[in-house]
Amino acid sequence: MQQADVKSPSGKTTLPDLGNTATAFAHKSNKELWQAYWLFRIIGTPWLTNLGSTLTKAALALHLPVKGIVKATVFKQFCGGENIQESLVTAHKLAQSGVGTILDFSVEGEGDQAAMDGTAAEILRTIAAAKGNPDIPFSVFKPSGLVRHDVLEKVSAGAALTPDEATAWQQARSRVERICQAAFEAQVPLLIDAEESWTQPAVDVLATEMMERFNKERALVYSTVQMYRHDRLEFLRKELELAAAKGFHVGMKLVRGAYMEMERERAAEKGYRDPIGANKAAVDADYNAALRFCMEHIGRMGVLNGTHNEESTLLLARMMQDAGIAKNDPRIHFGQLLGMSDNISFNMAAAGYNVVKYVPYGPVRKVLPYLIRRAQENTSARGQTGRELSLIIAERKRRAKA
Ligand SMILES: Cc1cc2nc3c(=O)[nH]c(=O)nc-3n(C[C@H](O)[C@H](O)[C@H](O)COP(=O)(O)OP(=O)(O)OC[C@H]3O[C@@H](n4cnc5c(N)ncnc54)[C@H](O)[C@@H]3O)c2cc1C
Repeated sequence: MQQADVKSPSGKTTLPDLGNTATAFAHKSNKELWQAYWLFRIIGTPWLTNLGSTLTKAALALHLPVKGIVKATVFKQFCGGENIQESLVTAHKLAQSGVGTILDFSVEGEGDQAAMDGTAAEILRTIAAAKGNPDIPFSVFKPSGLVRHDVLEKVSAGAALTPDEATAWQQARSRVERICQAAFEAQVPLLIDAEESWTQPAVDVLATEMMERFNKERALVYSTVQMYRHDRLEFLRKELELAAAKGFHVGMKLVRGAYMEMERERAAEKGYRDPIGANKAAVDADYNAALRFCMEHIGRMGVLNGTHNEESTLLLARMMQDAGIAKNDPRIHFGQLLGMSDNISFNMAAAGYNVVKYVPYGPVRKVLPYLIRRAQENTSARGQTGRELSLIIAERKRRAKA
């Protein structure tokens, strides 16, 4: 594999060169790169993305034959396949560049008990697929796929449950327990995603309980902290204190957080303090402080640095070097989403770090909400496309010259 390190300005450490487009896109043929170029150009235009999203939703609802187009374009960029079997091909391809896969069943918003049992069964299948498979170092689930939203909200608020809600909560708990138990037996580390702040207290309690039960030897169950919340550094400290007192390891995925607008709107509407940090700089400072905290306590932790931010990525790499920690230390991983920030994923992997990508999968119609979110996140208004697109353009130019 191509070595991608460059000397840092201080000359003391060598950090991966995240601008190396040859390594970033080595897994893409010229045709695939051309397709990605056009996709990011189109979704970089907000009105086109909004129009396309609306038309695609309508066309799929009307059973018009657009599945092929979606599958060949936006689905191909951001999803691994329609099922586990198809996604294993993607996983194998990523593994050839040293990048691990996290099979992410991305069907959303089906709140009845039968659907949630179905989701739990599917998560168990992802754990079975990951067992003993070095291409798939983690599994993952979203709490809202297993627990009714209203129940999560009431438990989080400490409100009294009706008998029906109490039963739903018990069923949800047993789904989560079964999944964690299966991950433990298969020795496949398991991530628990974080969602809205008003459902998170229930998830946090459950995640801590699972960590206490299954993380005696090492971090196997990982919770998630959204560092855009101003209370999360304190939460992280408390979590570690508890782990030290009770003798377990804390597994933690660090992210900035994906629901900022929704959080701010709800807080304003209901008149409580906005849970999000004052501005991006404050959030970045908290994120970096959390990385530092994790590194200081790595003896009792497992950390997944879930970010598309180059600075946060390199900061952790630098801290690892300064602490004399091996790049492939099993307690530290870097994570991105499929189809995004390949410059980070592939350059970090080429330099020898543990890198994983969420590989969302599911039937085209059902992963559409996920795809629309990715497309909207990548409009030029959100600033992400500029970076993706300029890297693709740089690589196309480089190949043309070569
Ligand atoms: C592997 C992986 C797993 C993930 N899992 C989850 C998850 O479980 N739950 C979840 O919520 N998200 C999750 N995300 C998404 C993540 O929270 C971010 O939305 C996304 O990664 C963008 O943040 P960044 O650090 O990559 O990039 P950056 O571009 O550096 O940061 C963008 C983020 O900064 C914050 N931000 C931007 N502007 C402001 C502002 N004005 N004030 C305050 N904050 C601001 C927002 O959180 C925004 O998403 C995951 C991402 C990855 C890569």
